[in-house]
Amino acid sequence: MYKDETTYYPTSERHTQLIPVTVGCAHKKCAFCAMYEDCSYSEVSINDIDYELQYGNEYTEKVFLTGADPMHIGFAKLEKILQLIRRRLPRCACVAAYASVRSILKYSVEELKQLHELGLRLLYIGFESGSDEALALMKKGNTSAQALEAALKLNEARIPFNTIVMYGFAGAGKGVENAHKTAALVNQFKSNKIVTMNLTLYPSTPLASMVERGEFTEASNAEKKEELRVLLQELDPPGGSLFDTTHSTNYIHLLGRLPEERDSLLEQLEQEM
Ligand code: SF4
Repeated sequence: MYKDETTYYPTSERHTQLIPVTVGCAHKKCAFCAMYEDCSYSEVSINDIDYELQYGNEYTEKVFLTGADPMHIGFAKLEKILQLIRRRLPRCACVAAYASVRSILKYSVEELKQLHELGLRLLYIGFESGSDEALALMKKGNTSAQALEAALKLNEARIPFNTIVMYGFAGAGKGVENAHKTAALVNQFKSNKIVTMNLTLYPSTPLASMVERGEFTEASNAEKKEELRVLLQELDPPGGSLFDTTHSTNYIHLLGRLPEERDSLLEQLEQEM
């Protein structure tokens, strides 16, 4: 049944072996999200996952677990899946997946350490914003304090993750404030990479209805650029991080390391403005 669904994965994982773990989204409430609209949440059975693994390429070194938030399945099942991957694909050194703040909070640091030992080596997490007001408006299902708690748990368990943030997320007139709050959040934990996305209005989403009802006004492109500039100026996570605006929703593509390449990235951004 899961083979009929659209499979979403980060572009950086396009050459990675994909293993389906969940279908649809268990949360399915984020106002801006157009993914998984027409499909209900379900979990792929261990038998089906094992079947996929049996026919996987035994030389594969990386696996991406597909689904909006595979960590939603809980520790026992995820542990079993990682053990199966280790058995069937012994050369696999990195298992990656999307993850949500809500799901990570359900795991203890000890459990996360065990998952790391079993090969869970990269998560992609949509933090979106450090503004509680914006997170609540967009029905993200977590606060910025919970986001920090989840990130620090992962840091302690040494599971690397990409931090996804979204400019334009707080709406017109709030871009700079959102950048301040997002940088303040992200600067408190280690990220493998900070990935920006541009809030994009998809017609079928609750956000589109909010715009129609006058409950949300999109920021202009000029305001979004200013938000991106402030974010770039203020981001200073411990240990540094890659800064990446090459996701397809962005109209300005920057890639460089913070803090070393901050000035050059800011210069490139100014030239685009
Ligand atoms: S953004 Fe992620 S968690 Fe939110 S509804 Fe979409 S798929 Fe689900």
